[in-house]
Amino acid sequence: MSGWRVVADPDLCQGHQMCRLDAPEVFGFDKAADTVVVRRDAPDDELLTSVRTAVANCPAMALSLLETERET
Ligand code: SF4
Repeated sequence: MSGWRVVADPDLCQGHQMCRLDAPEVFGFDKAADTVVVRRDAPDDELLTSVRTAVANCPAMALSLLETERET
C-alpha cells in the first residue's frame, strides 16, 4: 500500500507563503528563518488535493509530494 510524503527544500523557498493558503494543515512558516515548515510530512489522504495544489502553486518549486510505501 502506498502513502505520501511531503518534502520542502528550504534553500529554494522564497517565503511567499502561498502554500499556507492552499494547505494550512500541512504547511507552516518559520518567520526567523523566512522559510516554509512542513507540519505534517505524511498527510492524510483527504489533504492530498490541497497539498497537490500547494506543490503546483509554489513559485519557487520548493515543494514535492513523494509516493512511499506504508505499512498496512
Ligand atoms: S509557496 Fe513555496 S516559496 Fe512560498 S513559502 Fe511555500 S514553499 Fe516557500
